[in-house]
Amino acid sequence: MAPVREVIICANWKMNTTPADAGRLAADIGAATEVADVVRVICPPYVCLHAVAGALAGSGVALGAQNVHAETAGAYTGEVSAAMLAGLAGWVICGPSERRRDQGETDAVIARKLLRCAEHGLRPILCVGEQLAEREAGRAESTVRDQLRATAAELARHRGELPAGLVVAYEPVWAIGTGRTARGSDAATMAAVIRQALAAAGLGDRAEQVPVLYGGSVTSAAIGEFLAEPSIDGALVGGASLKVDEMAGIVARAGLTAAARGAVAAR
Ligand code: PEP
Repeated sequence: MAPVREVIICANWKMNTTPADAGRLAADIGAATEVADVVRVICPPYVCLHAVAGALAGSGVALGAQNVHAETAGAYTGEVSAAMLAGLAGWVICGPSERRRDQGETDAVIARKLLRCAEHGLRPILCVGEQLAEREAGRAESTVRDQLRATAAELARHRGELPAGLVVAYEPVWAIGTGRTARGSDAATMAAVIRQALAAAGLGDRAEQVPVLYGGSVTSAAIGEFLAEPSIDGALVGGASLKVDEMAGIVARAGLTAAARGAVAAR
């Protein structure tokens, strides 16, 4: 029987909120999204982690970081290591397109972030996705395949492997923060490409158990198209995740998918 994968909604607040207001927003989102069997994760800015951890205590909402450094420790001014996050956050977003673009993060650097997550029991959400020009040139799938291949090659170079608990987010770059989403069917095609690439990268049959999220201008109105695809297991939500009502709608829709999966599994 096909594995029943978790349904995950992860909020990426990016460079928004302050320690003074993040706790209240997190608490409000937690209270508005109490839906059975949906894994909820909030990733505030580093400086808000402590406040959000306090606000989420006992809520069932997990805490994530938006980044981690690729090295274990050392002279990296302003950076944050996996050891610093362990015990505070449980999840880490690795390789979002904004960091690939603005900080020049390569697949090799991102692979080392996955290693650091594995060393400290942090669950990585690995972001992959093509630029608009790559999609228009018919190279969307090969771009994503190449990103995963290069990531796995760097892991192998360090005698590492894809970490347990890995989640992959398919985030077409042209859909991030633009109000333009991919089609559900395109995301589903990419989910298959991602799991094939993970299988080839060493996961074999376990690739089918890796949750694949969609990210890119997800809203409460748009989420249904993605969750209607059995191969899509949730969403990485940016802009809309700062709005309590939007998160309530997104998680409510995710709850329908989680319930349907649970019913199939119970048969
Ligand atoms: C993201 O931050 O991962 C993202 C997809 O942003 P947005 O939802 O704003 O497009």
